[in-house]
Amino acid sequence: MIDPAVARMLRNDPKSYVISADIVANVTATNTLEHAFMVLSKVGYSRIPVLDADDHLQGMISLAVITDKLLHVPGAAVDQLSNYTVADVMLPVEHWVDDPTKLETILNYMINEPFIPLVDEHKVFQGIITRREILKRINYLAHNLANYYEVTPRENVVEEDK
Ligand code: AMP
Repeated sequence: MIDPAVARMLRNDPKSYVISADIVANVTATNTLEHAFMVLSKVGYSRIPVLDADDHLQGMISLAVITDKLLHVPGAAVDQLSNYTVADVMLPVEHWVDDPTKLETILNYMINEPFIPLVDEHKVFQGIITRREILKRINYLAHNLANYYEVTPRENVVEEDK
């Protein structure tokens, strides 16, 4: 369990650490892989969500899976990617949250994943929570904890050199 004082500081105004769906780059499963490749190259991210026509979260597409597909296509030319769709290589969504205040879950997932999708109760995509936004909070916490709480070491704590 996250220490309640830490949780309170990290969780302050949770909406502000969610990157809202309307500014998250995405593709649909029916888009061609050429289109997905162009979108990923343009936005400069290595992985983005795949949504259906009703904005339900369906999967993830990454540059790595597109490159891998390309390497298995005879001739390996980028225009060959127009013969395939995102659905051919899309990755399953392994982790997501339906509440941005579920920090314990978010931090655990974030050890291995650069962003966690946020969905509503119908799995409609609401946005993402990124490592960058959470690290900004942790950075603030690390610098300001003493402004909010008195922190005194217990007797058995050996303090590191300053
Ligand atoms: P960051 O912590 O800012 O490096 O973001 C982590 C990951 O989240 C990026 O590598 C992307 O996969 C994803 N991401 C962040 N912002 C966006 C965005 N606006 N649209 C799509 N994906 C994003």
